[in-house]
This record gives sequence, structure tokens and C-alpha cells, in this order.
Amino acid sequence: MKQNNNKYYLKYWIVFISMLLISPVWADSLEENNQILKQADAIRSSDPQKFRDLLNGLSLRTETLSQEQKNYLNYLRGYERAFAGDMDTALILFKKVLEESASSLLRFRAGASIANTAAVTRHFTEGLTHLEQTLDLLPEIQNSEARQQGLQVASILYNQMGQYELGLQYANRLLSEAPEGRNLCIAKMLKLEAQFQLKTLEQNNKDIQSGLDTCKTHRETVGTNLIRTYRASLFMDKGQHQAALELLNQHITEVTAAKYPRLTSEFFYLLAKAHWTDDRFELADRYAARAVKESESLGHTLPIVKSYELLYQIAMKQNDLVSALDYHKKHAVADKAYINDITAKQLAYQLVSHQSIEMKRRVELLDKQNEVLKLEKKLSNKAAENNRLLIILLVAIIGFIALWAYKTKLTQVRLRRLAEYDSLTGICSRHHFTQRSQSTIEYCYSTEQEMAFILFDLDKFKVINDSFGHPTGDWALKNAVKACQTHTRKNDILGRLGGEEFAILLPGCDVETAEKLAEEHRRTIEVIDTTDSGHNFTITASFGITTASRSGYELKDLIADADEAMYKSKRDGRNRVTVFS
Ligand code: GH3
Ligand code: MG
Ligand code: MG
Repeated sequence: MKQNNNKYYLKYWIVFISMLLISPVWADSLEENNQILKQADAIRSSDPQKFRDLLNGLSLRTETLSQEQKNYLNYLRGYERAFAGDMDTALILFKKVLEESASSLLRFRAGASIANTAAVTRHFTEGLTHLEQTLDLLPEIQNSEARQQGLQVASILYNQMGQYELGLQYANRLLSEAPEGRNLCIAKMLKLEAQFQLKTLEQNNKDIQSGLDTCKTHRETVGTNLIRTYRASLFMDKGQHQAALELLNQHITEVTAAKYPRLTSEFFYLLAKAHWTDDRFELADRYAARAVKESESLGHTLPIVKSYELLYQIAMKQNDLVSALDYHKKHAVADKAYINDITAKQLAYQLVSHQSIEMKRRVELLDKQNEVLKLEKKLSNKAAENNRLLIILLVAIIGFIALWAYKTKLTQVRLRRLAEYDSLTGICSRHHFTQRSQSTIEYCYSTEQEMAFILFDLDKFKVINDSFGHPTGDWALKNAVKACQTHTRKNDILGRLGGEEFAILLPGCDVETAEKLAEEHRRTIEVIDTTDSGHNFTITASFGITTASRSGYELKDLIADADEAMYKSKRDGRNRVTVFS
């Protein structure tokens, strides 16, 4: 068991120590991957072989790459594939980056590369769509090289699409990013191309020489000689065929060596045109044929159309009608294809710009709706706040009214209590006693019930006050009432008529019962223990009784007769009960 435990711990120690060892290795390899990726990116066009080797090395250790490093590698692999002419694979890789990368820089570069690749494969709609989306990202992109790449692709693509105004606009933006070296040559060349096509390029424009100088300095044969084709064309437009021929002839070897069909076809066409104008038909024929040959790989371009036209004219001039007819037919076919191509480009441009206008319009609409929603929310918040305030105000008012009503009610109750009950003894005041008695008497009268009336007065009360003080007198009053209350029945009404004089109305009570009760009252009062008052004395009272059968159902008569009986008790020596007769 102990050995098992040891094994168990050993296993965990090994795992723990390996993790400690591995984690810096893992961090190190991430850093190393970053360095390799950056190095590969830097030499991607200058040293294609080493570039490929670095990518292959990274592809072997993809498990050490983070997700974003994988995206970066995919972008570079896409670049490598495009460089090798494998556009289909390149497009797949760029699109993967566009979908998976979180980095706007990488997405921007991938989008620009898709636009560029689509331009090469002549998928104009796709190219433009990606270009527009990529250019939307431009404000976010800080990296100067990437910005230049994007602007360059835009200018190239728009020039290719025949949208020279836009091509010029992006060439100017590209130039304002201060490109250097090869990029500066391309920027200047793109600007000259757009101006040339827009027919705004003047022969004496200093940009022509400046572009030539930049491109020559950086040994950009294609750029240099494309600019020369614009210059030669401008010479010919002015009828300076000799100058054009001189310029073109000087660089034939260079241009041929460049093996760039777009350049060579245009270059040879211009040579042919210059010779034709100078009536050197044979040379013109030879160069026009070369121009056609060079154009073959390009599809439907203007040099091939113009070259066939020239070949047709030369054949006519030489009376070679068979060749003339043949060239004429070829010219017609090429011209039609070229026009179709232009139409397709224009349609693609219109489609994409409509799509993007539509998209922008939708975005604007959404923005507006959002604005309206925000306003509505603000408004409803305001309304809710007002409602809340109103409710608080109402609650406060209602609360105030309720409090006021409650206080008023309390005051009323207190006042009524004060009016109805005697504050010292808590029994009915004279007024309230009279009121209550009146209705009870009426009830007894209407139901022909007997009722009794007892009146009593404390004896020699003045002596108590005088001997022990007024507070002791009060104590005696309270305790005498308390003693009587032990004998009063539920429907009896006990009241203080004034001073030390009290009355009890007893509905449904005959004289015998009343007399018995009065006697009980008298006894209870007489035996009150007064030690609590701090003095020792005896309280007594004299009682007078009458009934309805004796005195009738009038309160004043009942009082008067009971009073008379009570005074008889006083006269007879006090502390006794007398029935009125
Ligand atoms: P009698 O036996 O003839 O009734 O004599 P008496 O002293 O009780 O009668 P009298 O009417 O001469 O005196 C009543 C006294 O009761 C006078 C008055 O000061 C006193 N008295 C009346 N009301 C109160 C009260 O609320 N408290 C106190 N302490 N004394 C009161
Ligand atoms: Mg009295
Ligand atoms: Mg008295």
C-alpha cells in the first residue's frame, strides 16, 4: 500500500516537473515562430527560394503555431502560390485568412491579395467586391506597407477595369503615402497610365521623366518601358514619328528580355505603327505580327485589335487581298471580343458599385433607424421619469391627505372622548349621560319596560378634600367609581352628574333589584381601603332610587325624584339607600 502511494506521487512529480520544463519551451517556440514568419514576410519577393524554405519549415511544426500564426502562415503560403502562378490555391488560402483571422491587418492584406489575384485571373466582379471590402478597412490600417499594397491593388484594378478616374485617384493616394523604391516606381507608372488613358497626359508633363528616372534607378524594366510606351504614343499623336521610333528602337532588347506580354505587345504595336507611318511596310508588318504573337496569352487587348487592323491596312497597301481579308476577319473577331471584354468590365464595375451603394444605403438606413430607436428610448425614458415623478407626487399628496385625515380623526375622537367622558373617572359626562339615557328611556317607554334610576352623592366630601388635600379627594372619586363599576350591568349607564354626584340608569330593572344593587354599591364604597392614597379614612355615599313606574319616563322627573330620595338619605344620617315614594 505504501509502495503504491510512492508510485502515485512519483508519477505526479514527473508530470509537474515536465510541465515546468515545457512551458518556457512553448513560449520560446511561439516567439521563434513569430520571428520566422516576419523574416519570411520580409523576403517574400526578394528571395523566393528562401521564402519557400522558411514556409516549408513552419508547415512542419504547425502544432507549435498559435491560431493567428497559422493565419499568418496561410497568408504567406497564399502569396507563395500566387507568385508561382497557382491562383486557385492562392485564392483558397487568402479566403481562409479572410474568414478566420481576427487581425484587421491580415484580413486587409488577404483582401487586397484576393483583389489582385482576381485581377490576374480576370474575375473582375470578385476582384472589385473584395477590393471595396478591403478599402473599407483602410482607415484601421496603420502598417504603411500594407496600406500601400491595398492602394496599389486598387489603382491597378481600376485601371484594368477602364475606371481610370478611380485608378488615378488611388495612384495619387498611393503617392501621398510616400512609397519608396519599387513601390514608388509602380505608383508613378500607375498615375501616368491613368492620365494617359484619360488623355490628360501632356507630352511636356514632368512626371513622365520623373517616373522614368525612379523606375530606372530601381531597375524596374517593365515600369520604365511602360512609361516609354506612353511617351512614344504621345510623340506619335503629335506626328513626331521619328522621335517615337528612336525611343522605341533604343530599348527593343531590354523589352524583349523582360518577357512581359502586356509590355511587349504594346511596344511592338507602337513600333509597327511608327514604321507604317513612315511607309516602311515590311518592318511595320513584322512588328505588327510580333505584337499579335505577344498578345496571344493576354486575351482580348487593344494592341491585338490595333495590330490586326494595321496588318489589314498593310496587306491592302501591298495589294495582298487574301491576307487583307484574313486580317480583316481576325480584326473583326478581336475587336468584337475586346468590346465584349470592355462591356463585361463595365458591367462588373456597375454591378459592384451598385451593390456597394446599396450596402452603404442599407447601413445608412440602419444607422437612421438606430438613431430613431435611440431617440424613442430617450423619449420613453423621459416619459417614464415624468410618470415616476407624478406618481411620487401623487403618493406624497395622498399620503399627506391620509395623514391629515388620520390626525383630524384622532383629534375628533379625542375631542369627542373629552366631551363624552369624564376625564377623572372615565365614565359618561353629564351631557353624554343625558343623551344616552334619553334614548334608553325612549326605548323602555316604547317597549313598556320598567326601569330604575339611582342617584348617589359622596358624604361629607368637602371634609376629605379639606383634611387630606384635593388629590386625595380625586383619588377617592376615582376609586368610588371603580367600586361601583364592579356592580353595574352591561346595559346600565353610569354617569357623573357633577362634583361628587353620580347617577345610574338601569333599563329593565325593578325597584327591588335596584335597591339591592344600590345597597351593593354602598357596601363596596364603604369598604374601600384608602391606604393607597396615603391616608386612612372611610368613603361613604348616600343613595336615592326611583323607577319609571313611580316617576314616569322623563329624565328630569327621574332625577328630581331620585334626588329627593337621596336627600332623605342625607337627612337620615347618610351612607344609606332611600327609595322614592
Ligand atoms: P354632604 O354630605 O352634605 O354632601 O357634604 P359635602 O361636603 O359632600 O357637600 P358639599 O356640597 O358641601 O361639598 C362638596 C365638595 O366636593 C365641594 C367641592 O370642593 C368638592 N368637589 C367637587 N368636585 C370635586 C373634584 O372633582 N375633586 C375634589 N377633590 N373635590 C371636589
Ligand atoms: Mg354634593
Ligand atoms: Mg356630598
